[in-house]
Amino acid sequence: MTSTAPLPTKAATRRNNVATQRETQIKKRYTARLRRGDLLETIVYFSVAIVLALFLADGGATYFLSLKDVTTGIGIVTGLVGSDLMLIMLILAARIPVIDRTFGHDKALAVHRKLGKPVLYLILAHMFLLMVGYGIAQGLNPIAEAIDMIVNQQDMSIAFIATGLLIAVVVTSLVIVRRKLSYEFWYIVHLLSYGAILLALPHQFTQGMMFAEGTWARWYWMALYVGALASITIFRVIIPVASSLRHDLRVSSVDIEAPGVVSVTMTGRDINALRAQGGQFFTWRFWAPNMWWDAHPYSLSAHPDGRSLRITVRDLGKGSARLLSLKPGTRVSFEGPYGIFTDASRTTKKAVFVGAGIGITPIRAILESSDLDPLEATVILRGSDAQDVYLWQETYDLCVEKSASLRVLVGHRPKGVNTWLSAEAYSKGESLLTLAPQIKNSDLYICGPTPWTDLVVRDAKRLGLHDHQIHAERFDF
Ligand SMILES: Cc1cc2nc3c(=O)[nH]c(=O)nc-3n(C[C@H](O)[C@H](O)[C@H](O)COP(=O)(O)OP(=O)(O)OC[C@H]3O[C@@H](n4cnc5c(N)ncnc54)[C@H](O)[C@@H]3O)c2cc1C
Repeated sequence: MTSTAPLPTKAATRRNNVATQRETQIKKRYTARLRRGDLLETIVYFSVAIVLALFLADGGATYFLSLKDVTTGIGIVTGLVGSDLMLIMLILAARIPVIDRTFGHDKALAVHRKLGKPVLYLILAHMFLLMVGYGIAQGLNPIAEAIDMIVNQQDMSIAFIATGLLIAVVVTSLVIVRRKLSYEFWYIVHLLSYGAILLALPHQFTQGMMFAEGTWARWYWMALYVGALASITIFRVIIPVASSLRHDLRVSSVDIEAPGVVSVTMTGRDINALRAQGGQFFTWRFWAPNMWWDAHPYSLSAHPDGRSLRITVRDLGKGSARLLSLKPGTRVSFEGPYGIFTDASRTTKKAVFVGAGIGITPIRAILESSDLDPLEATVILRGSDAQDVYLWQETYDLCVEKSASLRVLVGHRPKGVNTWLSAEAYSKGESLLTLAPQIKNSDLYICGPTPWTDLVVRDAKRLGLHDHQIHAERFDF
C-alpha cells in the first residue's frame, strides 16, 4: 500500500510564504549589521594606517636612515598610534547610535577596555623612547633628559602630568583593582582620561608633528580630536539632557513584585519617539533626595506601550535598594535606549530565552516585543526557589499568547557539579538540548548572574552554536 502526503491548503501555503519572508528579512538585517560592523572595524585599522602614512609623508622616514635617530622615530610612531587609539577609545565609549546598533553597547565597551592597556604601553613607550632618543642627541641620560624636557620645553610638564593621569585611569580599570573599588570612585578616576587628553594636547602642537601648519596631518588630527570630544559631548550630555527634558518622565507607580524586588513604571510625553525595544536598557537617574547623584543601568521589563516605560529592579546593592522607597511623581532623567539584546540581533526565526533571577527583566520584555510564530520560542527560567522566578505570571501569560514552550527549573544547583541547571533537572538528565530541542537552529538569549551565564554559554558552544547565535546580557559592564 502506498500513501501520498496531503496537498498543502492555500492557508498553509500563505503561512509558509509569510514565514519564509520573515526569515529572509531577519537574514537581511543580520547581513546588513555584519557589513556595517566590518566597515567600522576597517575604519579603525585604516585610521592607524593613515597616521603612519601621514608621518611618512611629513618626512618621518628620515628618522630611520641613521641608527642614532631610530629611537626617536619609533618614539614618535608609538605616540601617534597611541593617541589615535586613545581617541578611538573615546569614540567607542561615546554611545554613538550607529556603534550601539551594530555591536551593542557591551561589545563596544569590551573593545574600549581591551584597548586600554595597549594604549598605555604605547604612550609609555613614546615617553621613554623620546627621553632616550633626545637624550642621545643632547648627550644626556634619560632622567636628565626628562628633567630638561619638563623644565625647558614648552608644555612638556603638563604632558608628563597627562601620562600620570592615564596610568591612574588604566590601573583603576584593571579587573583585579576595579573589583576592590566602588563604581563611583572608579567612575570619577575614569573622568580623568578627559583631563589626560586635554593636558597632552598642547605639547602635540608645540613639540610634535601632529599639528604642524600646512600639513595634512594637522587636518586629520584636528578632525579626530574634534570628532571624539564632540561625540562625547553630544551623545553623553546634550542628547540625554534634551531627551530627558522632552519626554518629562515621572514615576507613576512602584509595585512590589517579591521581597526586595519592585517594578517602577514611568510615564511621560511622546514615549514612542524614543523607539525603545523590549530588551534594551537605559541609565536612569531618579530625582529624589537620596538618589539624584547616582545613575544606574536597568533594562526595560516590558515592551514600551507608547505611554509608559517599566523597569524591574532587585535590591542588589545600596543604589538599587533605594528604589524600594521611590515615590510616585518623582522626576526621572535618563540616557538611552541602549543595547541590541533585542530582535535586532536575531539571525534566525527561532529563539530560546534563558533567564535566571532578576535576569528575567530583559527576557520578558524581548519575548513580548519579538515577532515570533507559534512554537518558535522556548523560554527557560531559573530560580533558586519559586519566589525567585520574578514576573512569573506575566511571563507565563506571554508564553501562552505566543504558543512558546516554557520550562521552569527551580532549586539549587547540584553540589560539586559545574552546571547552570537545578539539581533536580540535572539528575533527570536535562540539558539545553532536551529543554529546547530546536536550539541548534535558534538564537539563544541569556540573562542572569555572570558565572551562571558563562555556564549556559559553555553548554551552547558545546552543542555547536556559533558566536553570532548567542546573545548574553550581562548586568555588569
Ligand atoms: C545593561 C544592564 C542592565 C541591567 N538591568 C537590570 C535590571 O533590569 N534589574 C536589576 O535589578 N538590575 C539590573 N542591572 C544591574 C544594576 O544596574 C546593578 O545591580 C546596580 O547598578 C547595582 O548598583 P547598587 O548601587 O545597587 O549596588 P553597588 O553595590 O553600588 O554595585 C553593585 C555592582 O553594580 C555595579 N554598578 C553600580 N553602579 C553601576 C552603574 N551605574 N553602571 C554599571 N555598573 C554599576 C558595580 O560595579 C557593582 O559591581 C543592570 C545592569 C546592566 C549593566
